[in-house]
Amino acid sequence: MTSASVRELLRLPAGPVDLSTLDSRGTPGFDGGKKEAKEELPELGPELADLQEKLFAEGYTDGTRRVLLVLQGMDTSGKGGVLSHVVGLLDPSGMHLKSFKKPTEEELAHDFLWRIERDVPAAGQVGIFDRSHYEDVLVVKVHQLAPAAEVERRYGAINDFEKRLAETGTTIVKCFLHISKETQKERLLARLDDPTKQWKFKPGDVDERGFWDEYQAAYTTALERCNTDVAPWYVIPSGRKWYRNWAIGQLLLEHLRGLDLDWPAPDYDVAEQRARLEKEQ
Ligand code: AMP
Ligand code: MG
Repeated sequence: MTSASVRELLRLPAGPVDLSTLDSRGTPGFDGGKKEAKEELPELGPELADLQEKLFAEGYTDGTRRVLLVLQGMDTSGKGGVLSHVVGLLDPSGMHLKSFKKPTEEELAHDFLWRIERDVPAAGQVGIFDRSHYEDVLVVKVHQLAPAAEVERRYGAINDFEKRLAETGTTIVKCFLHISKETQKERLLARLDDPTKQWKFKPGDVDERGFWDEYQAAYTTALERCNTDVAPWYVIPSGRKWYRNWAIGQLLLEHLRGLDLDWPAPDYDVAEQRARLEKEQ
C-alpha cells in the first residue's frame, strides 16, 4: 500500500513553518483506509523486531549506534496510542521508554537537559521519548516557567545537544503529532463520554486548551528553529489515529532499514570453539 517513503513525505522542509497549512487529517503514502492500515501495522512487526535485534546485537558487541524516537504533540494527539500500537511492536529488552512529566525539584535545580541526558538510549537500544526536552520550549514558554532569555537560549542548546547525540551514533526521529483544535475537542468529549477513558481527562486539560494558539506558536518556533539535517522534524497528520500509528511504525522501520544492519561477525574462531566443545568428555 506504500508509495513514496514516508520519511520523505512527512519530513518538515527547512524554512518558515505555518501549521495551519499542514493537513492534520491527510494520509500521505497510504493508499488504503482504516481497515487496511490496521491490518498493515502489525505486519511491520516482524521486520521491526528483526532490525531491532540486529541493532541490539551490534550494541552488544562493539557498535555505538542507537535510535531515538521523540514524540511531541498537544493533549489527545495520541502519544499514548503510539506507545501501545507502535512501540508495542518492539522487543522491550532492546528498548528504553521514558515519559517526561513535570520536572521534580531536583530536576529543576539542574540545566533542563540534565534529566534528558540521563535517559538517552544506550548503544544498541531504541529509545522512546514520550514528551521530551521540547517541553522546555513549549509548556515552559507558554506559561513563562523560565525567563524569556533562558527559553531563547534553549533552541541553540537543543540543536547542540542533538548534534552531539547524532555524532555519537544516534539516529534521531522527531515526530510532531499534528491535530486540529476541533479534533482535540472531539477527543476530550469522547473521554468524558466513556467511563473507560474518563481517567485520562483532567479538568486542567480544558484550561490548557485555552492556550491553544500560544502552544501552536511555540510549536511553530520549535519546529522552525530545531529542524536540522541531523535531527529533522517529521510532521505526522494525527487526525486519523490509524494513519498516525501506521505512519510512525513505517517511519521507524524506514530509519532502521537505513542503518543497513547486519548480524555482527564473531570476534572468535567459530571452528576452534566448536572443536573445543566437541572434544568434551
Ligand atoms: P501527561 O503526558 O499527560 O502525563 O502530562 C505530563 C505533563 O507534564 C504535561 O502537562 C506536560 O506539560 C508536563 N511537563 C512535561 N515536561 C515539562 C517541563 N519540562 N516543564 C513543565 N511541565 C512539563
Ligand atoms: Mg494528559
